[in-house]
Amino acid sequence: MMADMTNEVDSALDGTGAPTPAPRKNDPETLARQIVEKLTYSVGKTPAEARRYDWLEATTLVIRDRIIDQWMESSQRAKTSGEKRVCYLSMEFLIGRLLRDAINNLNLTEPIREALSRYGVDLDLVELLEPDAALGNGGLGRLAACFMESMASTDIPGFGYGIRYVHGFFRQEIADGAQVELPETWLAHGNPWEFERRELAYEIGFGGKVTTIQEPGRPARQVWRPAERVLAVAYDTPIVGWRGRRVNTLRLWSAQPLDPILLDAFNSGDHIGALVESNKAEAITRILYPADSHQAGQELRLRQEYFFSSASLQDIIRRHLHANENLSNLADKFSIQLNDTHPAVSVAELMRLLIDVHGHEWAEAWEITRNTFSYTNHTLLPEALEHWPIHLFERLLPRQMQIIYAINAGVIREAAQEKGFDDSKIAAISLIDEGNGRRVRMGQLAFVGSHAVNGVSALHTELMKETVFHHLHLLYPDRIENKTNGVTPRRWLMQANPGLTDLVTDAIGPAFLDDIEKIADLDPLADDAAFRERFAAVKRRNKEQLANLIGERMATQVDPGAIFDIQVKRIHEYKRQFLNIIEAIALYDQIRSHPERDWTPRVKIFAGKAAPSYAQAKQIIHLANDVARTINSDPAVRDLLKVVFIPNYNVSLAEIIMPAADLSEQISTAGLEASGTGNMKFAMNGALTIGTLDGANVEMLEHVGEDNIFIFGLTAEEVAQRRREAHSGRSIIAELPLLREALDAISSGVFSPEDPARYHDLVSNLYNNDWWMTCADFQAYWDTQRRLDALWQDQDEWQAKAVHNTARMGWFSSDRSIREYARDIWKAGPDA
Ligand SMILES: *Cc1c(COP(=O)(O)O)cnc(C)c1O
Repeated sequence: MMADMTNEVDSALDGTGAPTPAPRKNDPETLARQIVEKLTYSVGKTPAEARRYDWLEATTLVIRDRIIDQWMESSQRAKTSGEKRVCYLSMEFLIGRLLRDAINNLNLTEPIREALSRYGVDLDLVELLEPDAALGNGGLGRLAACFMESMASTDIPGFGYGIRYVHGFFRQEIADGAQVELPETWLAHGNPWEFERRELAYEIGFGGKVTTIQEPGRPARQVWRPAERVLAVAYDTPIVGWRGRRVNTLRLWSAQPLDPILLDAFNSGDHIGALVESNKAEAITRILYPADSHQAGQELRLRQEYFFSSASLQDIIRRHLHANENLSNLADKFSIQLNDTHPAVSVAELMRLLIDVHGHEWAEAWEITRNTFSYTNHTLLPEALEHWPIHLFERLLPRQMQIIYAINAGVIREAAQEKGFDDSKIAAISLIDEGNGRRVRMGQLAFVGSHAVNGVSALHTELMKETVFHHLHLLYPDRIENKTNGVTPRRWLMQANPGLTDLVTDAIGPAFLDDIEKIADLDPLADDAAFRERFAAVKRRNKEQLANLIGERMATQVDPGAIFDIQVKRIHEYKRQFLNIIEAIALYDQIRSHPERDWTPRVKIFAGKAAPSYAQAKQIIHLANDVARTINSDPAVRDLLKVVFIPNYNVSLAEIIMPAADLSEQISTAGLEASGTGNMKFAMNGALTIGTLDGANVEMLEHVGEDNIFIFGLTAEEVAQRRREAHSGRSIIAELPLLREALDAISSGVFSPEDPARYHDLVSNLYNNDWWMTCADFQAYWDTQRRLDALWQDQDEWQAKAVHNTARMGWFSSDRSIREYARDIWKAGPDA
């Protein structure tokens, strides 16, 4: 299936015959000269003519040269040493801007800053011009990005495989309070970080027929003749680890037509028809669908999943055969991690490649496949677990469908014969859901095709064993394990919060930069009044910066002396932004009724995107904006309460928001948030958490200690119990006047006078069925917020808790997560 491939024409960066570069000088003098050289010869401008954007391009090129040296060295090392390589397959890589990451990891921040300042150019302003690579829609994609950085930083030969979306995830604007989705154009000015690899292209087939070939004296073979074929072309981006020690590759696939234009059709006058094939191919990598869309059943999405899975596997096989005779030892040389079920079709595709293309027997192919793959589950939400209608799957991927049936037959045989599973248990583990119009269950496929399956926090892993994969866990009791998520401290502490990084370095020395768990040395300083004051001063400056952004972008003035109470994440009912808004309304009510009380001033900040097809989530955004408009323009609340919704949440905005938070809202319905990583970024930067016992909050409680985190509400078990009993919100609302009045205000149009019925359904849903426990948790949430109000009045206490949070969050580094994956699942890396 490879097009135009020979082993000699490997990627130039695979290291063969690369010249050994002379070591580069990194003093400001040299850097300034090189930047001006790039400006002149690559950008075509003199320093006098150059705009800020030109300086960005020139600086990026200078940094890129240094990365490439190291990139070649790392690729060469991985290749010649024969060490095991880790491939991370993910539909999303939410990497954000790369320049600051690269400069910081190469330790060049100060010399570059100085070099640019010689021309009157400010590095910080230059960095801001880089577009965010928006190749993801939330936590799952950001996790993949943190993991890529941590693999490079912990010296693991990691390779990311994904899709090069031309438009990535949508850009959000707010118009008259409502979300508007616009295409993201991150590639409009070109992308200096990527290298197109024309020579690395693979054919990907769709549709067509499978025929059985029976040759005399040989076993029957299946041959798939796809009806449609497109080309997957590789684009490589270097990912630099801490101190530039290792540079790994993120390889993203772009879909291109085999024939760019049907010349016959064009010449006979059908100018549009001549391009139909081409458009159809290119559509595959045009946009990213939100993973939590309720109608993710689009055929195009299945095409995307198969497209990048097949291209990645063909590439891995080529790389393997470059150094090995055959694929029998594939699992010794490569580990493939499936990030959620999006690449799960890989299990069937690798079987097909092993059997149909490379001539392996079924049993051996199955052994290789299972030993190579491992799978990370990210959600227990039934509507987010992928399953495809059989007729669609069969039409698009007929051979893979056959293979799935055969895998299923084997698993069912094993369950019946070895474990005595009855029909109902077999129905539960089957790869085919016979109940809902017959569907292929991608979670089950990923599970049975992997040697390890992991959840992303301790609680989530336990719930996985009890719920979604209960019966598969009975069948394969050793397969599920936990790997709690983490975030990279390079981006989320050092780059996002240089003020805090300098303060910590000054207080305990720089060792924590190389080993973040050493930040624990900061802990005793929570008792040091002078240190607390400096810590609070850093926070204050970060809050001023965010206040400026809010003033500029939204013309709303907020007081940096107030509590910055922040909830930023995708908008979803289970994450309960609604609960937070109701609390804001109740507080607004109370301030108006009791203006004489000693209220603690608060700024409630929201940001996040709603999946375009998720009507309830979009209503919540609308409500947040309507409530903001009403409260912020009411002179009666003065500066005691402000509500702000910042549009277009993305990585770069998160880097400004996290360091400026006093209070982090992690208030999901217990049992629903798999881990969360936003919770970790906030706490590392010294925010206190108000949260439920959900996801990684449970482990954060263990690490920071119960005095330093504010836990409230029902537990996962209590939520499950109440759901079984089908409680409505009605009786709770009747007993809680604060809640009732807030809901009355919403449903009667206080916040939407131009459309009083706008939120009628949103509120009546709560009365009829409190599915997300918004009513059930309201009082506990309210009480905890008021405790936090009181705590804010004692700044010594508050700041001491904030210091404890920063000092005790080192364990939540993605370096720790990656070391655990490497040790327990991949058996790869320096300690393997
Ligand atoms: C960290 C991050 C997330 C994940 O946030 P959660 O609160 O864990 O859901 C989503 N989007 C962006 C841009 C992030 O940086």
